[in-house]
Amino acid sequence: MLNWKGFLLAGAMFSGATLASSSMIVRFDLTDSMKKYLKDNEFDVTGVNYQTMEIEALLTPQELEQIKSQKTSIRFSFPQTLVRGPDQEYKSPEEIEDFLNSIHSRYPDITEVSSIGKTVEGRDILAIKISDNPRIDEKEPVLLVNAMHHAREVMTPEITTDMIEYLASNYGKKSEVTSWVDQTEIWVVPMFNMDGNNKMWTEDSMWRKNTRDGHGVDLNRNYPQGWNTCNGSSSNVNSDSYRGAAPGSEPETQAMMNLVARIKPVFNISYHSYSEIVIYPFGCRPLKTPAEEAVESIGGELARAIDYKPGTAWELLYNADGGDIDWMYVEHQVLPYVIEVNSTFQGFHPNFNKWRDKTVLRNRPGWMHLLNKLQGPSLQGVVNREDYQQIKISKAGAAKVSQVYKINPDGSYYVMLNAGQYDVTFEGKDNKTFKNVSISGKTNL
Ligand SMILES: [Zn+2]
Repeated sequence: MLNWKGFLLAGAMFSGATLASSSMIVRFDLTDSMKKYLKDNEFDVTGVNYQTMEIEALLTPQELEQIKSQKTSIRFSFPQTLVRGPDQEYKSPEEIEDFLNSIHSRYPDITEVSSIGKTVEGRDILAIKISDNPRIDEKEPVLLVNAMHHAREVMTPEITTDMIEYLASNYGKKSEVTSWVDQTEIWVVPMFNMDGNNKMWTEDSMWRKNTRDGHGVDLNRNYPQGWNTCNGSSSNVNSDSYRGAAPGSEPETQAMMNLVARIKPVFNISYHSYSEIVIYPFGCRPLKTPAEEAVESIGGELARAIDYKPGTAWELLYNADGGDIDWMYVEHQVLPYVIEVNSTFQGFHPNFNKWRDKTVLRNRPGWMHLLNKLQGPSLQGVVNREDYQQIKISKAGAAKVSQVYKINPDGSYYVMLNAGQYDVTFEGKDNKTFKNVSISGKTNL
């Protein structure tokens, strides 16, 4: 198995036909005008660094010549002269499947492995649910974690497999793990873009998209919310941010949308690389979530827990439309985050022995923070779905600024809030209003 991957990788690195051998990462000063220039010209921006104030892109020699001729006073450098292929210790789709089956056979009482749908090439997109009574829907709050919308971001399944292993192996041993698993339903999709990852191992170590019709679609520009609205994706099939022929056109995107509609997560983390940033909605300038809501403040806490920089995509990077987190937030009121692991010093394919453990350990306090947060200020309960379909919540006495949350199909609801006083109305055939509800911890009406 390892030899097989190593052999193909060696082949890819020495073949003149692959992108990997002819393209290079080029580093520029991080300025607003450079960010805009690189995106407007549809170059493959790979990451930013807010410590050194630099931005990187994957370029062919011809593209670099174009930039030099258009931006005459530009400074640039080559952090990696040849794009480095991934170490073979990083996981393939087959190894993810083996890993999940092994976890389930070792911890059958608290895990359940299932397919959430098929890829373009017909692979099963695998998910694992970690909870006590994993085969029952217990109306507990849900944390969803996924990795690898983008195929070349090989560190991201390491974060999710570390999380799965940590939770499963410490259940009944560490009290906080036991209470997370008992009181929460934890869903993990450890490798979302399985076709793309297979292509990354076998053909092109810098592959990002799925494999639709050979050219591929950027799965994180394919979600229906805001699809093709702010120049945050491309209509060019050869672009690395090609949005697809229609909103939600890809089977992978549909699988994720169906999963989210079914399990209704309170929180989501989508792991990407690289830049050491935490991104929350929205992707299009100048949209921000309402200040009354908890999504930004919790994003700030999450970023502090792992010492990354928080912000929206358009604040930290560039406009991005059709991304998963905007869709989750608008359609299902999930509090969703993108975490971009690793810095420009590691890139997409960090040396495994040097960086794998460091990176997963640094990221543990992030997902742990959200699991702890599920014990924090919230409004939760179960109603008869026939009577009430949604909940309207506003700061006490400030009804003009209100948020509407859909009640789950099974009648349960779980709304994360900042501590404070709220007016709460359950809406349906008849409305029922509670005034001045004080929310400081888990609150059940
Ligand atoms: Zn990504």
